Amino acid sequence: MLPLLQLVALLLHFIFISSFSAALAHNHDDPTIRTMEAFSGYPVHEPSSHGFSTPITSLSVDADTLVKQIEELSTFSDSPAPSVTRILYTEKDVLARRFVKSLMGLSGLSVREDAVGNIFGRWDGSEPDLPAVATGSHADAIPFSGKYDGVVGVLGALEAINVLKRSGFKPKRSLEIIFFTSEEPTRFGISCLGSRLLAGSDALAKALETTVDGQNISFISAASSAGYLTDPAQISTVFLKKGSYSAFLELHIEQGPILEEEGISIGVVTAIAAPASLKVEFEGTGGHAGAVLMPYRNDAGLAAAELALAVEKHVLDSGSIDTVGTVGILELHPGAINSIPSKSHLEIDTRDIDEERRNIVLKKIHESANEIAKRRRVKLSEFKIINQDPPAHSDKSIIEAMVSAAKDLNLTHKLMISRAYHDSLFMARVSPMGMIFIPCYKGYSHKPEEFASLKDMSNGVKVLALTLAKLSLQ
Ligand SMILES: [Zn+2]
Repeated sequence: MLPLLQLVALLLHFIFISSFSAALAHNHDDPTIRTMEAFSGYPVHEPSSHGFSTPITSLSVDADTLVKQIEELSTFSDSPAPSVTRILYTEKDVLARRFVKSLMGLSGLSVREDAVGNIFGRWDGSEPDLPAVATGSHADAIPFSGKYDGVVGVLGALEAINVLKRSGFKPKRSLEIIFFTSEEPTRFGISCLGSRLLAGSDALAKALETTVDGQNISFISAASSAGYLTDPAQISTVFLKKGSYSAFLELHIEQGPILEEEGISIGVVTAIAAPASLKVEFEGTGGHAGAVLMPYRNDAGLAAAELALAVEKHVLDSGSIDTVGTVGILELHPGAINSIPSKSHLEIDTRDIDEERRNIVLKKIHESANEIAKRRRVKLSEFKIINQDPPAHSDKSIIEAMVSAAKDLNLTHKLMISRAYHDSLFMARVSPMGMIFIPCYKGYSHKPEEFASLKDMSNGVKVLALTLAKLSLQ
């Protein structure tokens, strides 16, 4: 439609909204009256089958309330503002959960929790037996991080539901908000714990029976002290049945600078890169830094240094910008200036959106580790793949729904890849998946400077609301 026509339509809307509202109140219970056109911001010229012409409805986000809620949630923190620290099953985490559950209740959602504390808030549709459309994110925060990571996808989802409720929308498929337990690996070293379990990870359910944190507190007892899990056997009750949801959507800050730099409002995620992580250890003989001459050494530190460079080489050799690799941890033992390292420990993270390409890199790293150990006469005492998650691709029809929502709302958008991973990576195993990114200040995340503007959050909430509405009626 031409912008001028839109302007006229908008004016008509404001002029006639009061006279229509009486008619609407009268026809409020008829779900057919609220059609998709009503949410797209376009007027419906054709009279409906009921002979009623629906006025356009602009989606109105209550951004002030959203910001207040984000501020309030950020006060449940174990570090001083503006930083946020909220670790799984701590007192602050439990308080944050209580806050979100009360907001879900205020929005008229029926709230339930599973055995590990994934929280669900459901708005029943007119056909509640159909698989629901779900959206959500996490609210835990690594030490000294910010207030928007995850939170925008939880409180923003609530606001999206409120937007739809205020506008009179009637969902056909139920709409459900999911608050995921522990996306961050801080406490038990397991990322996306809640969504991995929802996706039915037997291996994780088994491992959690014996998992402990840095203080030697078991996962089971931490969960039960927060009011969940009383029996390890309950862990597998968390698994979702395939087909529980017809779609899953996550609204999230980009955590990178692209949208802000390019001045684009909405990122439509087409794929999520997935990590594989490795633990590697070399063992040499060690010895006195002065007494042992160079030809007689088998230095475990130099083996580690060589492997770190090999990681970079293999990643670059893949020829794709989407392949990345990082040696984030390199420790030497005994760690004294005058002692030849007798042991070295590396932790390596590699990511890609192409699983096969990433796995080739892993194989080459393994070959290099063996070759270096042999040549330097050290022992490769450990080469362990800690995790090797498959990347996920967004569902085509959800991508289309997100793109058309952005267009309907006259918002600029860009198709992009999520380099960081999210609960959506695991939800993709049990449901068609899509993600909506909004810009964040300088791409900062996981630090107190993390920031998303009121306008960007409102845009994200609108696109989420409209996409949920579209998918709910499919
Ligand atoms: Zn996040």
